[in-house]
Amino acid sequence: MLTKTILITGCNRGLGLEMVTQLLSNPAWKPDKIIATCRRPQEAAQLNALAAQNPTQLKVLPLEVTDYQGLPSFVESVKAELGSDGLGCLINNAGFSPGMTRLTTVQPEQMMETFNINTVAPLMIIKALLGLLKESNGHNQGNALQQPLIVNISSILGSIAENNENAGSMSGGVYPYRASKAALNMMTRNVSLDLAKNQGQVQAICIHPGWVQTDMGGPNAPVTPQQSIQGILTFLGAGISQEQNGNYFDFEGKAMDW
Ligand code: NDP
Repeated sequence: MLTKTILITGCNRGLGLEMVTQLLSNPAWKPDKIIATCRRPQEAAQLNALAAQNPTQLKVLPLEVTDYQGLPSFVESVKAELGSDGLGCLINNAGFSPGMTRLTTVQPEQMMETFNINTVAPLMIIKALLGLLKESNGHNQGNALQQPLIVNISSILGSIAENNENAGSMSGGVYPYRASKAALNMMTRNVSLDLAKNQGQVQAICIHPGWVQTDMGGPNAPVTPQQSIQGILTFLGAGISQEQNGNYFDFEGKAMDW
């Protein structure tokens, strides 16, 4: 078992859906409880089919990640599902890109919407679920995850070090997405430091999932969702050391340059 309880955002398609699928299908990873969120559960056919096949392990809950007023009642629903187990792992996966934006065309609304979904929302979700994450401390003894863990799904496009002339057509542009993921990276390090002061109860890392064949990554991406998620779950399954806490990795667990 990877962790007893896990909550993943943005699970109706793409990497979130693949993560739920692999967690359920591999006995080495299968948690007691997966809470999979999406904006419109009534339209999430594939996720609902998985929930019907795994009624004890998988619960689908509605979550528009920028609905901050709805967070207290969302937390109550999560609490009701988890009971006294608390939350062993939070994966902030939901993300958005307004596509190719250039210096000459980028709009303030694109910057703010992307920042809201990719940076502000993950932080507010962490803040709302922190009590449940702390409650799970000690419940994971014997599992690979020794401490509760926050994973923020970032991107190589948020790396300042990787955004240089050598990146060719991949350099520059994409202002809203790059800036939002760079800020997510900083937020992750900051959260890990603040939580370390609190006896290191909860760890936080960010992961670049690779350039993946999803709606966001497009059909020409070199990595399949299966490869990306297999890599991420294998990496997480090995446990995050104190040295790794607060850092930035690719989907195979290789350390990335900020
Ligand atoms: P997709 O575009 O395929 O899926 C995005 C998911 O995020 C959907 O479930 C979508 O829900 C959800 N989402 C978007 N906005 C919101 C919101 N406001 N509230 C709730 N859910 C929302 O993307 P991927 O699966 O490829 O991406 C997953 C993560 O990986 C993202 O954080 C992305 O930035 C990151 N990433 C992806 C890469 C790639 O190549 N694919 C590369 C690097 C990073 P809905 O269906 O309702 O829109």
